[in-house]
Amino acid sequence: MPDSPDPEANDAAQRDFAAQRESMVTNQIEMRGVRDPRVLDAMRAVPRHHFVPAFQAASAYHDAPLPIGQGQTISQPYIVALMTEMLELEGDERVLEVGTGSGYQAAILARLAAEVISVERFAALAQEARERLADLGVDNVQVVVGDGSLGWPEAAPYDAIVVTAASPEVPPPLEEQLAEGGRLVVPIGQRWTQSLVRVRRKGGRLKRETTISVAFVPLIGAHGWQQRGETRL
Ligand code: SAH
Repeated sequence: MPDSPDPEANDAAQRDFAAQRESMVTNQIEMRGVRDPRVLDAMRAVPRHHFVPAFQAASAYHDAPLPIGQGQTISQPYIVALMTEMLELEGDERVLEVGTGSGYQAAILARLAAEVISVERFAALAQEARERLADLGVDNVQVVVGDGSLGWPEAAPYDAIVVTAASPEVPPPLEEQLAEGGRLVVPIGQRWTQSLVRVRRKGGRLKRETTISVAFVPLIGAHGWQQRGETRL
């Protein structure tokens, strides 16, 4: 976030970011068909520029993913909104996110559900995300470090699970940790291109729907891809 010693310049910068956010929601998200008003409000409210490296702040509202360090990316705004809408949150859910990254998706989820647990494999990213969320006063997200392809059994089951990294298959532990009626959204496919899949647990059965094509960074872990140069344990 640009921090100018001149408070008026700072106010102007904040107004400019708010205007960019408004245009992001209208032109990138609503125009492509995301309709859930709560999701649109959350996308209008969360300052995305707070979640990207300072030198990227001017690009924060562009229609694209951006690098956030450790070879990882913050997803394109439309994809964040679409995946969130697919979770069908009403406000009282417990949500698991796999792949905290910058913490941006977690901040969106925090406005739409009761409680969010977000798992990140890189401790440094997890710590930065915690700090960003605390700066914004978000107090219903718990960021934990681990292999999220195993889910987070301690707090299971979850009403909704979102995986923001691509996996070759739906990780079985995530299906197991889904509550009755719950929704799991995960990009499934090849290393460089995947389909967004939603799994719904209904009457003890799992129903799968496949939606649009996406391109996510890989989920690295026991039920994701193996780390390059390492053998799968
Ligand atoms: N949701 C993020 C974007 C995440 S990018 C945001 O809003 O910014 C994908 C993230 O998944 C990366 O930070 C990567 O380190 C993490 N990741 C990859 N494999 C993982 C695993 N097995 N467990 C937890 N996090 C993982």
